Amino acid sequence: MRLYNTLTRTVDEFSPREPGQVGMYVCGPTVQDVPHLGHARAVIVPDVLRRYLEWTGLEVLHVRNVTDIEDKIIARAEAEGRMAAAVADHYGRVYDEQIARLGVLPPHIVPRATGHVLEMIELIERLIEVGSAYPAGGDVYFAVRSFPGYGKLSGRSVDDLRAGARVDPDERKRDPLDFALWKAAKPGEPSWRSPWGPGRPGWHIECSAMAVKYLGDGFDIHAGGLDLQFPHHENEIAQLEAASGRQFARWWVHNGLLNIGAEKMSKSVGNIITLAEAIDGHGADVLRLYYLQAHYRSPVEFSEERLVEAGTAYARWLAFLRAVGDIEPSAAGSEPDDARRRFVAAMDDDLSTPQALAVLFDLVSAGNAHLAAGRRAEAAALRGAFTELAAVLGFGLERSERPTSVAPLVELLLELREQARARRDFAAADAIRERLAAAGVVVEDTSEGARWHVGG
Ligand SMILES: [Zn+2]
Repeated sequence: MRLYNTLTRTVDEFSPREPGQVGMYVCGPTVQDVPHLGHARAVIVPDVLRRYLEWTGLEVLHVRNVTDIEDKIIARAEAEGRMAAAVADHYGRVYDEQIARLGVLPPHIVPRATGHVLEMIELIERLIEVGSAYPAGGDVYFAVRSFPGYGKLSGRSVDDLRAGARVDPDERKRDPLDFALWKAAKPGEPSWRSPWGPGRPGWHIECSAMAVKYLGDGFDIHAGGLDLQFPHHENEIAQLEAASGRQFARWWVHNGLLNIGAEKMSKSVGNIITLAEAIDGHGADVLRLYYLQAHYRSPVEFSEERLVEAGTAYARWLAFLRAVGDIEPSAAGSEPDDARRRFVAAMDDDLSTPQALAVLFDLVSAGNAHLAAGRRAEAAALRGAFTELAAVLGFGLERSERPTSVAPLVELLLELREQARARRDFAAADAIRERLAAAGVVVEDTSEGARWHVGG
């Protein structure tokens, strides 16, 4: 397989560090808010890469971290009057729920930053030892100029960066480019003990420490959104390579962003479509189809129209599958094998999902032609190739024919229960509540009417 590597700026033949095994680290969420549609792309792209590598026979160890301590989480906790840990726990659960609805394979290891503070402290101590970091007033900073390779990922030179850097007169840093590895705790902030006093790790050191703990030096693939390339990924490399003298990650895979107008979808811009809204409105497979129609490195311009078009195209897939039904396939002719070959050629060409999808659309067209001509067993053979290849791209197919949300159904049952109570039919009202409880939906009666949630 040929895969673009941001580090070399070329499409290189991908070969894992150890034959048959691939270590992949993906930068996970900072859990301070609900995930939005832009976040979906940063999990769908590594999901498709992982599924494809696995389909070709490789074993993938997939690590995706959770940043559960960070400035934004602390700010959110202050705004909500909760503890930072409670904010992180809540939004971490919301994230997991929504990402699972997308049909993304769960990573094998999901390290949380707060569970790895010791590893981060050790890495910082090592950086101080080798002269790449220095403590200053309870903080610790990475000395960017101590690492000759700084800028190699993003293609920037330290001198250009220096010219554009904002100089804060009140800084403890020796150089404006230096960045915090450890931040001294301000009053009321969550903190951990360290050789430099109570504080917390910086965001960049979290990923370096966790990636290398689970995948070792020189692991195969580090993935993330293009918006993380600089400074986050540049800093991850600097920290780890300065400390160990060895290569951090071999392949850097960056997905393009989801833009609305000229801007990326982001909380700070305020142009958010939440992932829950998008899945409720369109279904997980349609969102996946929408994203995979673009090459993973290209930006995607948000368009409601294109999403609706993807929905129409997807409906044709389901119609074909229903039309074929359970017919026994014919002994496979050359058509399914040809399709597999074209699919592999597309995916081997830097994960060209638009071409891979074209193979799926062609299979449906050819299958429909067989059906129209009464060649049902031939159509069934193409269905077999179609469902196999669609699964490699992560489509759930029958899964997404079910309602994507139970909320409207629960609301309907609660309305019927209200009506039963209004006509004093308490037996019926209780029966509805009990049946919902048996299905895992807990109903609580409050002064503002019935509230419900799923689970204990
Ligand atoms: Zn990261």
